[in-house]
Amino acid sequence: MLITKLKSYNELIPCFSDKVFVIKCSGCKEVYLPEEEIDIFLEKQNQNIISIKRLDYLCNEDFSRTYSETYNNFIEKSDVVVIFSCGVGVQVISKILEYKKVFAGCDTNYINGFQGISAQSWDCRQCGECYLNYTGGICPITACSKHLLNGPCGGYKNGKCEVNSEMDCGWVMIYNRLLKQKKQEKLITKCRIRNYKKYISTDNKISK
Ligand code: SF4
Ligand code: SF4
Repeated sequence: MLITKLKSYNELIPCFSDKVFVIKCSGCKEVYLPEEEIDIFLEKQNQNIISIKRLDYLCNEDFSRTYSETYNNFIEKSDVVVIFSCGVGVQVISKILEYKKVFAGCDTNYINGFQGISAQSWDCRQCGECYLNYTGGICPITACSKHLLNGPCGGYKNGKCEVNSEMDCGWVMIYNRLLKQKKQEKLITKCRIRNYKKYISTDNKISK
């Protein structure tokens, strides 16, 4: 199983300084969403929220494309889309709305048990400290062979990864996505130190 936890108010509040369209994912039974906590937070941000939708299975790209078309009106009016879901849901919406600022409202944590089944091309290692808000919605843990968090290793060639030449370099993809969102300078000027205590559960999971 996995659980999602509301991000800290310090990280969340700046996401609500412009007009925001909010989506909460209520799809999987295997994912715990802290909905009460989310609602308490959203009530305090009410002045900048254009609309809040509770939708199923954002991890399903077909569903998410349909939602994006259905609610295009709200998306157009908003500066930012904030998603409360696991890391996969945020990655899917970020890809569909790649010119838009899409932010994750939750961190995703691993816990033992059934993971659920969904057809998806995205992966979330449930690392406990979601980086999607800094990387344009592309996960550096799963898109980069070395799970690098602050930029590329320097070994990429023609946009391909040095570890696997069949694979696009995750950090080239992240940079290109941020260029589209005009956010690339933030990435270059700010290095983030990870709290690896939160990452231990994922390492345990991988080694099992
Ligand atoms: S950074 Fe990647 S692995 Fe970590 S929670 Fe976000 S999507 Fe999942
Ligand atoms: S080439 Fe890119 S994807 Fe591959 S390990 Fe280096 S930074 Fe990561």
